[in-house]
This record gives sequence, structure tokens and C-alpha cells, in this order.
Amino acid sequence: MRPFSLAIHGGAGTLTRGMMTPEKESSYLEGINAALEAGYSILEKGASATEAVAEAVTTLENCPLFNAGKGSVFTAEGTHEMDASIMEGSTRQAGAVAMVTGIKNPILLARDVMEHSGHVLLAGPGAMAFAAQRNYEILPPSYFFAQFRYDQWQGIKGTDKTQLDHADSDRKFGTVGAVACDIYGNIAAATSTGGMTNKKFGRIGDSPIIGSGTYANNQTCAVSCTGSGEFFIRGAVAYDVSCLIEHCQLDLQAACDEVIKKRLLALEGDGGLIAVNSNGNIAFSFNTEGMYRGFRHSDGSRYAAIYGD
Ligand code: ASP
Repeated sequence: MRPFSLAIHGGAGTLTRGMMTPEKESSYLEGINAALEAGYSILEKGASATEAVAEAVTTLENCPLFNAGKGSVFTAEGTHEMDASIMEGSTRQAGAVAMVTGIKNPILLARDVMEHSGHVLLAGPGAMAFAAQRNYEILPPSYFFAQFRYDQWQGIKGTDKTQLDHADSDRKFGTVGAVACDIYGNIAAATSTGGMTNKKFGRIGDSPIIGSGTYANNQTCAVSCTGSGEFFIRGAVAYDVSCLIEHCQLDLQAACDEVIKKRLLALEGDGGLIAVNSNGNIAFSFNTEGMYRGFRHSDGSRYAAIYGD
């Protein structure tokens, strides 16, 4: 059988050893392992890479620890506006939603955009109208309420500041993503986020932007990013990794490090990414202190980590 694998992230940021209690550490690792289990167990049974990344990201969206779905941060208006995208490497089909509210699993809506809308990116009221047409339940704000998120927002409410969830000194949960290679050698990537605390003016980050926060091409790699979205958009980060493999013949890890540790840093952007190729190889790269991350591979290897060391 061909090698297959799944990798996930839950955000990159100022994550250093000793900053968290052992209890907190183990609940994050539990969240990572639950998402790995959800995605890997279906990959093992022959599910497609697209199904596996959607499953892993859905699990992370349902976990209140991460800034996506249930755990999404507050906007300047006290609402939750979520962005998500998914891309399939075999067909290079993609779907994305931006500024959606009340949707339990934005990644499933992004997948529906890819499969049923004839478009790639739907935003705001239009995305909500599409969700209504597909019979999505709209959950009340109370489903997305978490006291610590509310307190984060109170700290900067009424100012022009926005805050990356994982740059906060107390709380470092972030955007979530998954990349997978299935038993057929097809790859896919998915990313989902609540964006930045106190965001306004319809701010959209890199997560729903194909080529910035998410990209997949069977010939090169599948990539999901996390970090300060404006820089990832300016750097076309996910596509840049693919380009370095395609045009400069860099290997997967070297391409990821070139983009995250050199090109993104040159723009003064911070964050990280996960990537996979159609041989099942996995790469992680981040220029922050840490990144919630993990993988499982059909050769039996597995890993879950938070810190940089
Ligand atoms: N990249 C996301 C955004 O800018 C934030 C994150 O990664 O946590 O919306």
C-alpha cells in the first residue's frame, strides 16, 4: 500500500515551555490527538485526503480551545465572524467562505462551496444565503461564547487594536488546519479560523484565501498556514511553497523553511505552516516560539507538540 499521512496545526505563536500549567498542556495535546485520530482513522479505511482534512478540521472547530468554530474570537462588534477554505490537490478544486456567522463548522460550508456552488470564495451575506440554501443550522451566539475570549476582547474593545489570538500573553490558541495524503496518493489542505480579536471593517485574513492560507497541488504539496494573515496574503505563502518545489526543485521541508524563515520574516510576518506531499512526507515550519501541531503516518510514526524545542 502507498504511504499515507495526516498533519494538523492549531495555531502558531508565543508558546514557550513553562508558560502553561501541565493541565493546560495536556488538554491542548488531547485536542490535537483527537483531531489526528478523527482524520487518520478514516484515511486508514480508504477515505480521500479531502474527507480526512475536513474531518480533522471539524474536530478542531468543535473544540473550544482553538480559534475556529466554537472557540472563535470576538470581532469589534462582539460577534464571531469565521473564515475557512479547503483545496483538493488532484483536481485543484477549491472552496472558501469568509465572514460567516452562526455556522458550527465553516469548513463543511467551504467544502460545499467547492462541490456545489460553481464558485471558489463566498463572503458575508452571500455565503450565509448559500448556507441557508444548503439547509445549514444557524446557531445562536451563546454557542460561540467563552468567557476567556470575551475577556480578551474587553482588553482591547473600543480601540483600533486587533490581536492575534495566539500573540496574547495569556491565551495562545489559534487558527486550525490539516493536510493529508491518502492511500491513492492524492493530497488536500484545509484551514479554519475566527480571525483576529476586535477585527472590524469586514477584515478577512489569509485563511480563506487560496494560495495564501491554503493550497494543494498533487504535483507539489498541500499547505495550511497560521499567523498574521496580512503578511501571509502579501507573501502568497502557501503558493510560494508550491512554487519553490515546482520551479526550484526544493524538497518539501526546504521549501517550507525558505518561505517561513526567510521570505515571511523579511516582510516581518510571523507564523507557521504544515505541509504534505503525495509521497506522504510531512513538513512543519514556524518562525514563532511554538505551534500546536501533530501528525500520524502509515509507517507507524506519530507526534504531537507545542513548543519549538
Ligand atoms: N491567519 C489567521 C488570520 O490572520 C489568524 C491565525 O492564524 O490565528 O486570520
